[in-house]
Amino acid sequence: MAQRTRTLESARLARVPAYLFADLDRRTEELQRRGVDVISLAVGDPDLPTPEHVVQALHQAAEDPATHRYPPYAGTAGFRAAVAAWYARRFGVRLDPQAQVLALIGSKEGLAHLPWALLDPWDVALVPDPGYPVYRVATLLADGVPHDVRLRPEAGFLPDLSEVPTDVARRAKLLFLNYPNNPTAATADAGFFEEVVRFAREFGIVVVHDNSYSEIAYDGYRPPSFLQAPGALEVAVEFHSLSKTYCMTGWRLGWVCGNADVVGALAKLKTNLDSGAFVAVQRAGEAALRGPEEPVRERVRAFQARRDLVVDALQAAGWKLARPRATFYLWVEVPDGFDSVRFAQHVLDRAAVVVTPGVGYGSVGDRYVRLSFTTAEPRLREAVDRLRRLR
Ligand SMILES: *Cc1c(COP(=O)(O)O)cnc(C)c1O
Repeated sequence: MAQRTRTLESARLARVPAYLFADLDRRTEELQRRGVDVISLAVGDPDLPTPEHVVQALHQAAEDPATHRYPPYAGTAGFRAAVAAWYARRFGVRLDPQAQVLALIGSKEGLAHLPWALLDPWDVALVPDPGYPVYRVATLLADGVPHDVRLRPEAGFLPDLSEVPTDVARRAKLLFLNYPNNPTAATADAGFFEEVVRFAREFGIVVVHDNSYSEIAYDGYRPPSFLQAPGALEVAVEFHSLSKTYCMTGWRLGWVCGNADVVGALAKLKTNLDSGAFVAVQRAGEAALRGPEEPVRERVRAFQARRDLVVDALQAAGWKLARPRATFYLWVEVPDGFDSVRFAQHVLDRAAVVVTPGVGYGSVGDRYVRLSFTTAEPRLREAVDRLRRLR
């Protein structure tokens, strides 16, 4: 065999930052080995089951041999029509299901591939800090250059686009946004989206809005779609997912919709990468989108009760956190003298509760940890009791 002097990882992969929390994982495993009952509030993965009628639709669809064959590349006509009908009903946004809707194998898949469809080497993508890590990593993998846009607490974790230097804005081809936001749980209103459309038009930037949490909202709040902003369809696509709304993270079904050229570019790329989501899963997705809304409301009510349980207890204990209007995350300021990793270690060592260090979402996140309330109530209550007593 020829001698190998090259490194195994491509330069492209080597650019992706190493996993940050190996040490935290190791400590967690060590505690568990010693028999400690560790409770994780680290992952955003609903414990509540998928609505029954959706599971039934999958059963039925799986019995139909027509679903056993390769799916159409862009998604089934039925699923795309259901997405368009849902957007019309929920947001009053009219979409052409053929040209403006593309099914994805989960929205993460589409978000991760979009930069491959749109970026040339050295093109800039504006990424929120803190933000869902996929935006930055996908940009790096596509040889693009991520430029951080800071989300500051005093601005409600909305970016100040006037802070983006003009030369950077000119080189930018993409702007990633996500409201309701993971990890900060911040929300954005229509006025902010209109401002973003103006910025995108001025610099010829494609806006990528990740709306995974549009249905996980409380106290009667209804998060908007970016596509409701006037002119949005000229500059933007919106990613969406069945994962959070219908507690379907394991099913892997999402979609992107909006600007037809962007949707078409990603569709072209994807015909060369994958062969689509299982047709039976798409039929189940159709059942979810066209089906009764009560199962979603029921789940949101459960999340809201948990939110109040955790926020009330932690605020009373002097923790610094807001009561979020949406998502199932709490973005908690770490006490003075800690950074996010050290505070997460402290919480793990003293309370046997796992929380996510905010630095995993970007440098601004280092003053925070993220707690999720996708854990069933007795366990959540136990976790909160431990956190309250923490010192
Ligand atoms: C959960 C999540 C996703 C991914 O959802 P999938 O459709 O399951 O891939 C995308 N964006 C954000 C911000 C998320 O929190």
